[in-house]
Amino acid sequence: MTPVTLREFRGEAIEISCARCNKHATLDRKALVKKFGAKMKFVQLSRVLSIGCERHGTGQCEASFPGLMK
Ligand SMILES: [Zn+2]
Repeated sequence: MTPVTLREFRGEAIEISCARCNKHATLDRKALVKKFGAKMKFVQLSRVLSIGCERHGTGQCEASFPGLMK
């Protein structure tokens, strides 16, 4: 099952990457929970987290979480 919220994610580190912008980052789950709350959804996270994409937040950015697809 793919985790939907931060609460459902089991790992310590969350990977986010954007194939289109060729950017990626590793995020600390605990820090994200502190900042956004455990109910924060990954779909929303990919919108609010800036990983240096120029297209970030425009709908053209394809930021996603490859670690969730296992
Ligand atoms: Zn991007």
